[in-house]
Amino acid sequence: MSDPQPLPWVRVALDVPLQGHFDYRCEAEVAVGQRVIVPFGRRELVGVVVDRPSAPAFDPEQIKTVLEVLDDLPALPADWLRLTAFAADYYHRPWGEVMLPALPGPLRRVAAYHGKRAQGGPVRRNDARRRRASAEVEAAPSPTLNPAQTEAAAAIRGCAGYGAFLLHGVTGSGKTEVYLQAIAGILAAGGQALLLVPEINLTPQLQQVLLSRLRAMAGEAGVAVLHSGLAEGERLAAWLRVVRGEAGVVLGTRLAILTPMPRLRLIVVDEEHDASYKQQEGLRYSARDLAIWRARDLNIPVVLGSATPSLESWHHAGAGRYQRLDLPARAVSSALPAIRLIDTRRLALQHGMAPLLLEAIGQRIAQGQQALIFLNRRGYSPVLHCPACGWVSQCDQCSAYRVLHRHEGRSLLRCHHCSAVSRVPRDCPDCGNQDLQPMGRGTQRLEEALETCFPGARVARIDADSTRRKGSAEQLFAKVHAGEVDILVGTQMVAKGHDFRRLGLVGVLNADTMLFSHDFRAPERLFAQLMQVAGRAGRHQDGSEVMIQTGYPEQPVYQALLRHDYVGFARHGLDERRGAGLPPFAYQALLTAESGELPQTLAFLAACRELAATLPDAAGGDAAVTLYDPVPLRVVRVNRVERAQLLVESRSRPALQRFLRQWLPPLSSLPGARAVRWQLEVDPLEI
Ligand code: ADP
Ligand code: ZN
Ligand code: ZN
Repeated sequence: MSDPQPLPWVRVALDVPLQGHFDYRCEAEVAVGQRVIVPFGRRELVGVVVDRPSAPAFDPEQIKTVLEVLDDLPALPADWLRLTAFAADYYHRPWGEVMLPALPGPLRRVAAYHGKRAQGGPVRRNDARRRRASAEVEAAPSPTLNPAQTEAAAAIRGCAGYGAFLLHGVTGSGKTEVYLQAIAGILAAGGQALLLVPEINLTPQLQQVLLSRLRAMAGEAGVAVLHSGLAEGERLAAWLRVVRGEAGVVLGTRLAILTPMPRLRLIVVDEEHDASYKQQEGLRYSARDLAIWRARDLNIPVVLGSATPSLESWHHAGAGRYQRLDLPARAVSSALPAIRLIDTRRLALQHGMAPLLLEAIGQRIAQGQQALIFLNRRGYSPVLHCPACGWVSQCDQCSAYRVLHRHEGRSLLRCHHCSAVSRVPRDCPDCGNQDLQPMGRGTQRLEEALETCFPGARVARIDADSTRRKGSAEQLFAKVHAGEVDILVGTQMVAKGHDFRRLGLVGVLNADTMLFSHDFRAPERLFAQLMQVAGRAGRHQDGSEVMIQTGYPEQPVYQALLRHDYVGFARHGLDERRGAGLPPFAYQALLTAESGELPQTLAFLAACRELAATLPDAAGGDAAVTLYDPVPLRVVRVNRVERAQLLVESRSRPALQRFLRQWLPPLSSLPGARAVRWQLEVDPLEI
């Protein structure tokens, strides 16, 4: 028997950029968490029932009626409603804009229910589809854990209730084995586990290894993979297996944190420092931070793992809010690669490379090993210029240069911001000089140079350009693994997850450009990235080497890298942050605005700032909120839109939140608000 429903009103969350309540009349039986189809203006929308108010928020005469109650799924669970409500509140977005995008596409589209081929809706359609019988899964047997791993796994398995663990260990120290042990314990007890990994734009082989290990534990159907690259139908099928509790393990990227999981008992966030956990559009959430919240709300353990934790997490561990678990050494080959700095200040470089590096490459390939040259800049050359008059290949839509690309003998100029493409001028558009020159180098030019320096060597390049075609990344990586490549040139795409058996040398070019950015997190990111690249070496080869070219070898980042000293680097970094009053010792929000003209953008932000001064919570005291001057973004113009930002900061998170709650709603009524688009990001990663 069902509960009586004396009141016909339902409050529905919709995916529309409006704050406020959307109330409807519903005579049919409906529960909070169920989806409904409602009329909205001239459209029909899928929404989620979030309340059964005793009276509607506006005149009952004007209230429309729910068109249909969708009963293809049980109501979305209460803990999921709490999670999305928290995210909406914390990131200052309407609840419906959090909930609905978190559902697989077909579940939030009216057309999937009322279209010509709806056939009872997407869930019934999914369930009617026959699936391939699952194959037997074979995976490498799990190794016997070493004492540090055993201790870490025991601490996690022994945790009853909420507990946040920071698992710190270099690449190859066996963190994954610890996750797997902890997950095995959860599965044995009938629970579900969520394992988050950084965004996978391709499927690195480690992910495959991980997947097969998980499948060996939970069964083929017991593991669901959730990431943004899935086709809609695949994602729906996987999501349904999780929501129905059929899959015990979810392996997913950041969006997976918003999956309803009825028996969730453990969350693991691998590479917790990775920037891809932060969504960069729409709801700008941090999946890592939501993981902590969700674990606390459900009273379950959460594990953050990294070789180079974010300074935020390291600080929390130092303050006792997270429990630190250390894996002090590599699990197999104990030798970490030797790291060397090459001071380029007094060196004559050849094609941007030091003689020492070139020599080392030659030696390694002579020994049948591979060399990886890391350069985080794709294209042939970042700018084309005229030595006679100073003309440069400026993009006419952006405040950036068009990058020279060369591919199979053809050249073109491409803007990396707006993607506009133009022909390479035969002669200088300003002075007619026929000798235009590339300035600086990207991966294509480096590839060419290495082919010149090492005739006969097999050189391959892996970056976003060489892997555009579906499957081409896998092909390239397969060649590397098969030993068909001697020298690999790559951007950060090669840094993650790959395990190159024959790799004996890693060379790093142009690291300094990453160091001298305006962003206070630049050294932290550089350290993490270089540790990760360095981690590609020496997993199987003893005596492997990493050579970093720099003009600033005395910088603390490089000095710490030399010693593989994350702890020292973190101590130094946190001291600096404390002194400067930066996160994690302060909390930030960033208001970014854009319009056709910079003065207009800046004027709007200035008006926002003035408005803040009239609010009580912007006043002084311990909980003060500081608003900085609006400033243009580093690349101020993209696609003819001029962008600027306003940073808001406070020593107190609650004070910042209180302030934002008061400040944001009136912004849309400011004069000039209609001419600009703006968005707020809480806890921004890039400033
Ligand atoms: P991480 O996740 O810290 O980078 P992994 O868990 O992937 O490290 O381990 C690196 C390699 O060492 C893997 O090939 C793994 O199978 C192996 N390994 C991990 N733990 C052990 C162990 N206790 N004994 C033997 N090999 C291990
Ligand atoms: Zn010229
Ligand atoms: Zn452009």
